[in-house]
Amino acid sequence: MPKKHHQKPAKQVKIAKNRIKFLFQHAKETFKEDSKLADRYVKTARRIAMRYKIRLPSSLKKRFCKHCHKYFVPGANCRIRIHKHRIIYYCFGCKHHMRHPIK
Ligand SMILES: [Zn+2]
Repeated sequence: MPKKHHQKPAKQVKIAKNRIKFLFQHAKETFKEDSKLADRYVKTARRIAMRYKIRLPSSLKKRFCKHCHKYFVPGANCRIRIHKHRIIYYCFGCKHHMRHPIK
């Protein structure tokens, strides 16, 4: 079956978006108990986003490391600093920085 030009139905995309939101919520709730499970939720959410070609909103993109995809909890596995109108996230897991402009 040719997969080129195949578009996902809008309804499915909507369901996928809801699922992504749900997974991030779960990640937040589960982090204290099981941070590895939280990471797995992020991984699943990213996979859904890729499959449906959904761009994650910036509010969600800030919630995990873009290098190692760990779910971020400030103080627990990342550090947040504000520098020159940017939020800088430092990931304890992979020692990389992420910068986001402040709106
Ligand atoms: Zn990282």
